[in-house]
Amino acid sequence: MLGVAEAIETVMAAISPLDVAAVHLEDALGRFAARDVASSAAIPPWDNSSMDGYAVRASDVSAGARLRVVATVRAGDAADRAVASGEAMKIMTGAPVPEGADTVIRIEDTEEAGGIVAINDTRDIGRNIRQRGEDIAEGQLVIAKGTRLLAPHIGVLASIGMSRVPVHAAPVVAILSTGDELVRVEDLEGASGGRRIVSSNSYSLAALVRETGGVPVDNGLIPDDPAALRQALEEASDADLVITSGGISVGEFDHTRAVIQAMGGEITFWKIKARPGANIAFGSVNGTPWLGLPGNPVSALIGGELFIRPMLRKMSGSPRPYPRPITAIAADKFRASENMAHLFRAILTRAENGELHARSTGPQGSGILSSMAAANALLVVPAGRAIDLGEIVTAIPLDPDAHLTERLELHA
Ligand code: AMP
Ligand code: MG
Repeated sequence: MLGVAEAIETVMAAISPLDVAAVHLEDALGRFAARDVASSAAIPPWDNSSMDGYAVRASDVSAGARLRVVATVRAGDAADRAVASGEAMKIMTGAPVPEGADTVIRIEDTEEAGGIVAINDTRDIGRNIRQRGEDIAEGQLVIAKGTRLLAPHIGVLASIGMSRVPVHAAPVVAILSTGDELVRVEDLEGASGGRRIVSSNSYSLAALVRETGGVPVDNGLIPDDPAALRQALEEASDADLVITSGGISVGEFDHTRAVIQAMGGEITFWKIKARPGANIAFGSVNGTPWLGLPGNPVSALIGGELFIRPMLRKMSGSPRPYPRPITAIAADKFRASENMAHLFRAILTRAENGELHARSTGPQGSGILSSMAAANALLVVPAGRAIDLGEIVTAIPLDPDAHLTERLELHA
């Protein structure tokens, strides 16, 4: 049986980044750049004014100087001649600086009347011109391969005129939930005799996939029937990843492994030394990677954190697919059994002195889904270890908004 880290490494070794496609800039948000991107343009494309004012020659500027206003240059336009000695051109922010000018005097330092501008202050001599290429030089690397494209990257790509961006395709993830007891969320009321439960995994796993940049495809609720499961797996296996929930253990109606085998699929492992999550399986079906998650909703989501998220990041071209563990000080006792690493749902809070304290969310059964919602971290306690109060414990953060706070603490 594989340990947690070994199982994750085994899975990740079977995963490759997906094909590269040039997507429209508006669809590139959150994707990973598949190549280095260099700019073919200089930004700004011409020397331009950073102020509303007058473009002049520095050698003409002295306090009280009076210059003839020969033109107005608006943003989006350009002067049709140079600025000569003794002349000024009225210029707007962003407009190209005309030939001959090397200074823009801000409008607040001037007075214009009868086609003549008087300059009242010389502080702007040689200033207020943004140089061609001062933001981005021609040929400059602007996006490194592997960068996750966020709002500023989208802005840079737009500014250099890239309407299509090379990114790795978003992984399509088929989700099959198996179990005779399952219904969709709309159908719980009135479902037969109260013996049904909502397939919460269908929803939580789809959400986790979407959160991680994947495209979930709900392949439905599959009864505990090998023929039905086989048909569903055939249909699902053109996805980039197939996830099954339930039916992976040794119960009489747990058919998933047998069906995968009957289809000629591979089962690389079907147990790991982790609790919850002991019955997590991995392999392939019709050549597509397959992750078999237990039906227990906590186990399913822990499988999502440990396996699905890193897999999707790797498929998406991320160079950093793994969560970085942090350490906290145990404010409860956490004990693992002899042969299994234990994954505890915990709440990390920062004390006044800056220390992180880890408390249990409470009952840790693999059916206590609310514990997953209450937690902001998973504590990882290796097999055979007992963590006492005050001892250091390793945690995988779960809350992407952990850096947000209710009070503004800028002191600025
Ligand atoms: P199984 O892994 O099929 O043995 O299911 C283990 C437990 O998880 C049982 O209590 C199931 O009712 C429950 N379960 C199975 N599938 C789901 C699902 N899709 N959503 C929520 N709970 C489930
Ligand atoms: Mg079942």
